[in-house]
Amino acid sequence: MHTTQLLIADEWVDASSGATAETINPATGETIGTFADGGAADVDAAVAAARAGFESDAWQSMTPDARGRLLWRIADLLERDAEEIAALETLDQGQPTFISSQINLPLAAQVFRYYAGWATKIEGKVSPVSIPGNLSYQRRVPLGVCGLITPWNFPFAIAAWKLAPALATGNAVVLKPAEQTPLSTVRLVEICREAGVPPGVVNLVTGGPDAGRALVAHPGVDKISFTGSTAVGQEIVRASADDLKRVSLELGGKAPSIICPDADLDAAVIGNLQGAVFNTGQACGAYTRFFVHRSVADEFTTKLAAAADSLAIGPGQDPTTVVGPLVSAEHLDRVASYVDSGRAEGAQLVTGGSRVDGELANGYFYRPTVFADVRDEMAIAREEIFGPVLAVMPYDDLDEAVARANGTEYGLAGVVWTKDLTTAHTLPPRLRAGTVFVNQLPLIDPGSPWGGFGMSGHGREMGEYSIDEFTETQTTFINLA
Ligand code: NAD
Repeated sequence: MHTTQLLIADEWVDASSGATAETINPATGETIGTFADGGAADVDAAVAAARAGFESDAWQSMTPDARGRLLWRIADLLERDAEEIAALETLDQGQPTFISSQINLPLAAQVFRYYAGWATKIEGKVSPVSIPGNLSYQRRVPLGVCGLITPWNFPFAIAAWKLAPALATGNAVVLKPAEQTPLSTVRLVEICREAGVPPGVVNLVTGGPDAGRALVAHPGVDKISFTGSTAVGQEIVRASADDLKRVSLELGGKAPSIICPDADLDAAVIGNLQGAVFNTGQACGAYTRFFVHRSVADEFTTKLAAAADSLAIGPGQDPTTVVGPLVSAEHLDRVASYVDSGRAEGAQLVTGGSRVDGELANGYFYRPTVFADVRDEMAIAREEIFGPVLAVMPYDDLDEAVARANGTEYGLAGVVWTKDLTTAHTLPPRLRAGTVFVNQLPLIDPGSPWGGFGMSGHGREMGEYSIDEFTETQTTFINLA
């Protein structure tokens, strides 16, 4: 059993109310730990600690080079403990081991190294003003105290995407992981401490939505970096209006996949399936709507269903597992109810459509599910399901496919499958999505921005874009006359 606390001002403490909550193993439904269930009073204390940490001499006087080394040390420690943290992530989140150990942990370490490099390269500009005898220059200055609120689908990696640039730019933070999956973030914070992050610069408040709300409402917080659902993102924007807190939002998605008639169909089947069921479909960039040219739609659907049926389902700890459990009983019900709605609205269920029984019956497992003849107005074609549910939607011409692919409020990711070079370059800009992939899985790299159009949010993570997200531009005018 894991028992975890809050980290406030470099001290591990219980929630001030004494409240705790449980976290469970989604592969078995068993409780695996209790965590401190922080509330508004704890957020108050954490924000005060972060302010003190931000203003501390230890942090303010740390040179960019030293900050870069600090981030590099965090990456080293992540790699030292990668196996243990990946196992913890799999236990708490359900994530198949190949994802936690071969993708998430290496990516998190890579992100810290990437931003370690940036710490010494955050440059300003000199502006050519026309005021005689004046010098005007700009610097990028940290925002101050940043609230980092993360979801349950990639708890460790997403915390790293936010924490690394926030620290590289000299901010102090309060991290608030999702209540379903707090354990790996506790380890991340422990590692920051071990690496030598000065007291108060990194604080942790575990807890539920109320802790998140308190962080968003807190006047001592300068910025909220949020990844999660669109509904909560909207609530955060409304709540931030009072003090015009900076907000960046990585929200939901409903990525379209356009499979052109000239595509390598077998490669498209495998790539789309992997893009759809990666992390059991609990990925914001998951491919969900498959616009397949009518001439190949039947063949595509048959092959997709056969490939979906062949995927190994099991606990994330089993190295052969491709499809793990969904994160919670509540989420399992949500995914199942979407499948019911697909059936009720007349989509053709080709395969899947049920929970997994037998030995896995206590866990939150759901079979990869393929629907054919899905119409655009059906809920399964419009709403984010966040599970292994695939909707095949035939089209007749490419303009129609583009219009239908864009017929969504979301705009996070999209993918195009073609062997034609012209199509590969001309189709992506027609899709309203923050990232468009061509002939491949959804990928994330620290050097390349990630974020959405429309209801998928605003702001970008990764690359130089995150440096902008965590800094303000400050101008100095100097009278040289
Ligand atoms: P969620 O919005 O329910 O919760 C996310 C976090 O916000 C949790 O820590 C939660 O405790 C907190 N929270 C809940 N209500 C809050 C409130 N009113 N104010 C402040 N904080 C609050 O999301 P989830 O169910 O944990 O995650 C799944 C969602 O995340 C999906 O919609 C998915 O698409 C999205 N997501 C997006 C990206 C991206 O990069 N765009 C990446 C991963 C996940």
